[in-house]
Amino acid sequence: HDVLLEVENLQKWFPVSSDRLFRRGKEHVQAVDGVDLQVRAGETLGLVGETGCGKSTLARCMTRLYDVTSGRVTFDGTDITSLSRRELRPLRREIQMIFQDPYGSLNPRRRVGSIIGDPFAIHGVGKGAERKRKVQELMELVGLNPEHYNRFPAEFSGGQRQRIGVARALAMRPKLIVCDEPVSALDVSIQAQIINLLADLQQEFNLTYVFIAHDLSVVRHVSDRIAVMYLGKVVEVAEADALHEAPRHPYTNALLSAVPLADPDLSDRRERIILRGDVPSPLNPPTGCRFHPRCPKAADTCAAEVPPLISRLNDGPDHLAACHFPVEIGENLVEARPTIA
Ligand code: SF4
Ligand code: MG
Repeated sequence: HDVLLEVENLQKWFPVSSDRLFRRGKEHVQAVDGVDLQVRAGETLGLVGETGCGKSTLARCMTRLYDVTSGRVTFDGTDITSLSRRELRPLRREIQMIFQDPYGSLNPRRRVGSIIGDPFAIHGVGKGAERKRKVQELMELVGLNPEHYNRFPAEFSGGQRQRIGVARALAMRPKLIVCDEPVSALDVSIQAQIINLLADLQQEFNLTYVFIAHDLSVVRHVSDRIAVMYLGKVVEVAEADALHEAPRHPYTNALLSAVPLADPDLSDRRERIILRGDVPSPLNPPTGCRFHPRCPKAADTCAAEVPPLISRLNDGPDHLAACHFPVEIGENLVEARPTIA
């Protein structure tokens, strides 16, 4: 596989002032803590986890919108970990992001033609009538009416505003687009349209996507591979089918048990796994396996030792899980009881 983007042992900690705790010094939110992940050229990598698991932070580190605390980010063979704003500029053509709330990222007082043309202005591509023509081509490409060039964002529906975001992301013909919950705010019928649009564009322009979502139902259908995050770490990564057929990490299992099944014949095979408690604070994450206070399979080893993200059981090198006691196919976690409190 050609690797387009790679992060190694990536850490992103945010300092938090702890004055109010009557203590000196700083505490840190360990938003991303030791992530290894590869994005392969031409694939869609789904990145899944609950709110606060660090997936958006990871995405912003991957695209170097954030500086990283430690670790390494490599894009297209170049180490981009410590490039300055200036040095990053050429990279801004190659890597783009699409956000959940296109409205929030669109200035309401600017016309969409000029918003979509921003990347051309920033990178000095074309001007005047030529730039307008390029913008109108982009509008057409994403299913917007080019005659609406002079309209304001408020004159578009939610789905159309997401198309504006897609058009802007495409302007410089990037290699990689990181889509941060691009459809979460949209109605289901509109979600499908945007997902189909992204899929068509991927084909046409040979794009690589990282597709972030908070549940598995959306990413299942769009992803070649899926990485599951929990509390700042990747706990499992596998091809989409393998992840669904043989999830090894108990957290992945629980997430999957919450996804409605397309095939009703299978529904009796899967009971919903209810996890104990809430996600702990990333200020002071649990020792060992960070999932252990909530895990149905937790044992003493789990609180003591961090499980490495490696191939488990008979899985090949493309299926990795960070769990000391990986789940066997058919194992019933609904009835499992942890052996530690
Ligand atoms: Fe559960 Fe232990 Fe596996 Fe963590 S390492 S997921 S606590 S069984
Ligand atoms: Mg987010």
